[in-house]
Amino acid sequence: MKIGLEIHVPITSLRTKAFCSCPNPAGIKKDLEPNSLCCPTCLGMPGSKPATNQRMIDEMIKIAVALNCSLNREFFFSRKSYFYPDMSKNFQITQYEVPVAEKGHLELKVKGKKKRIGITRVHFEEDPAKLTHSGKSITESDYVLVDYNRSGTPLAEIVTEPDFSSPKEARVFLQKLTNILDYLGVFDPAMESTIRCDSNISLKGGERVEVKNISGAQSVEKALSFEVVRQKNLLRRGKKVEQETRTWDEVGNVTQLMRKKEMEEEYGYIFEPDLTRVKVSKRRVKGIERNIPELPDQKVKRYKKFGISEINAVTIAGELEMARMFEELVKKFSAKRVASLMAGPLQKTLNYNQMRLRDSHVELKHMRNLLKLLTTNQITERTAEMLLRDMVKKPVMPENLIEKKGVERLKDESVIDKAVKKVIDDNVQAVLDYKSGKESAFHFLVGKVMAETKGRADPNVIRKLIKKKL
Ligand code: ZN
Ligand code: MN
Repeated sequence: MKIGLEIHVPITSLRTKAFCSCPNPAGIKKDLEPNSLCCPTCLGMPGSKPATNQRMIDEMIKIAVALNCSLNREFFFSRKSYFYPDMSKNFQITQYEVPVAEKGHLELKVKGKKKRIGITRVHFEEDPAKLTHSGKSITESDYVLVDYNRSGTPLAEIVTEPDFSSPKEARVFLQKLTNILDYLGVFDPAMESTIRCDSNISLKGGERVEVKNISGAQSVEKALSFEVVRQKNLLRRGKKVEQETRTWDEVGNVTQLMRKKEMEEEYGYIFEPDLTRVKVSKRRVKGIERNIPELPDQKVKRYKKFGISEINAVTIAGELEMARMFEELVKKFSAKRVASLMAGPLQKTLNYNQMRLRDSHVELKHMRNLLKLLTTNQITERTAEMLLRDMVKKPVMPENLIEKKGVERLKDESVIDKAVKKVIDDNVQAVLDYKSGKESAFHFLVGKVMAETKGRADPNVIRKLIKKKL
């Protein structure tokens, strides 16, 4: 199985669009009135002229450096011809002959083994407008709405080699890439605009099939898995897998035929004469390289020196917000303690709610107090996890939550002692059994006290108190 990806990343860090001074919608979170962020240039009016956004070039170079690419210090833009209402000037400004950068790679860890994924090229592309069909598809629609707000939004296109050997690898790659782009500050996953993918997949004995219009890492895995089954079934029945372009239907969870055989040459690329060549000085590249922050892989290496496991280090470096919080907390608490709470109960609770830390209500001050409660033995890690279930959903200090929920402060042994007394009084037979040497009777009593304290008491304290009493 061979899989390659073409990834379109909306650059959210730029304040303006690629070739005009309209605000960049990828960097705006609020709902926008359709066609409210447009000018003659991004509407493709005859006579309008584009101008290059220099900060966009810097952001492209950042991505290229982080993906270990070799930079082209001189490049230009090209016109890709196509006629469609989402691109009113009848061509899209992109790069073809000379991209910003090429020949890079990114390392993945698959089943404990390192795997290198080749990056063919990183180039710039402008986003077209957004179409909304009134019906299910273009042929079933009475009309189509066009929103030119998106037109001219700067995209970084990242093309990989066909190095993935499973849909899962493609998903892991996309998650890692998204994380790196977040670290670089180029793409903010909290924004509305998403990373969109085209992928190509071929099985032994079949032609290459392209699947277009996939949003997000989870969908890439789903779409590719569907294609694997479809192509395998064709081949098994002795049929041909033909070269074609298919589209991913997010609602129906299937891929559908879009068109047969299409060559890149048919787009009739020509260089864009309205824009000048871009020359990038060595000094400019050095300046950009100097400002690239510590990336996830480097963080994992550094965190392991704190004595925490690689698995925990990878989880924490897997989200920038997590890493930031971890680095603050280890100033006050032991790294192992912080890591086990964050990579354990916290990450588990976030996963369960399909959230990342940045979408949750858990802030540094909340975690600081939670760790204070833990390290002073006022609560167990189990209680911490129960508190986190509420803390991810609303901004609340853990100590207030304990009071509200009536969780015993476990420092207060008198509360546990009361429960122990009650259990001993109520379970005379078990007490006798224990005294005649039955170890299982002791576990039974501990369990009863646990139930009595609603699972919030520290089992070590329970054992100590029962032994003392008996
Ligand atoms: Zn504009
Ligand atoms: Mn593209």
